[in-house]
Amino acid sequence: MKRRRILTGLTLAISLLLAGCGGGQKSAVVEDKINITTSFYPLYDFAVKVGGAHVNVINLVPAGVEPHDWTPKGRDIKNIGDSQLFLYQGAGFEGWVDDFLKSLKDSKVKPVVASTGVELLKAGEEADGHDHGKDEHNHTEEAGKDTDPHAWLSPKNAKKMSENIKNALVEADPAHKSDYEANYSAYAAKLDALDKQYKDSLTGLPKKEIAVSHQAFAYLCHDYGLTQMAIMGLSPDAEPTAQDMKKMREYIGEHGIKYIFFEELVSDKLAKTLAKDANVETLVLNPLEGLTEEQVKQGKDYISVMEENLKNLTKALQ
Ligand SMILES: [Zn+2]
Repeated sequence: MKRRRILTGLTLAISLLLAGCGGGQKSAVVEDKINITTSFYPLYDFAVKVGGAHVNVINLVPAGVEPHDWTPKGRDIKNIGDSQLFLYQGAGFEGWVDDFLKSLKDSKVKPVVASTGVELLKAGEEADGHDHGKDEHNHTEEAGKDTDPHAWLSPKNAKKMSENIKNALVEADPAHKSDYEANYSAYAAKLDALDKQYKDSLTGLPKKEIAVSHQAFAYLCHDYGLTQMAIMGLSPDAEPTAQDMKKMREYIGEHGIKYIFFEELVSDKLAKTLAKDANVETLVLNPLEGLTEEQVKQGKDYISVMEENLKNLTKALQ
């Protein structure tokens, strides 16, 4: 017990140290800035890029933590309440957010749903690949349980989400409107270039099927004519059945798949076992639900990780 408490203290000290350099958790808002709390990493990165010098961004989920099952603690709730903007993904990604918003009534913070205006897919919708009709999309306002929240893995959607963040900033801080517009334009151009890079690299490749650990890549697949087969569902911690594993082995054989993708924030045990079983190799495909502390230290961000993803996709789809 005692040892554990010392360790927790140490972890806290480390996270306070890290707070100054990006992905870590800041313990308080900053007086002369627009304070923004974000529910997970991509929103943090987009807000930093669009807000520039005028914002202090507090990412709630610490580096190295997978956000699907994360819930806010007392300090997080205080940080959100003291901020001007609270950015969250919506589309059912943050299971805790609906109840939380009800408790925010008396606070000055403005909640912003980052995925507003993004064409949301239903869970498993990309399964039939590039040739599915537009009418299959989920146009309902209410994000149901079967909505796939992983919209940020499409650079086009990342651009829309950054635009939503820009609009919220302009509304919260109209004095710096031209700076937010300029930051957004510069970042949007980079996201356009990323989209083009994906299109140019993936279009001509012979394979179109990817084997992944959790079902996070529907939007990416949708944009570039790929199909994903996932060992697990929308959340990465579900236990796959023997039947799921068998299906995956068959899929790997059927499509001549050479690599199973895994991600850094979740144990790679399952992907490794399956790869050994099916006599294929593993590679990282990062769903960008968070960075590791190492990646934060290395200065990685949404665009650089998406470029690494593209390298590995290109390798796997030869
Ligand atoms: Zn996910």
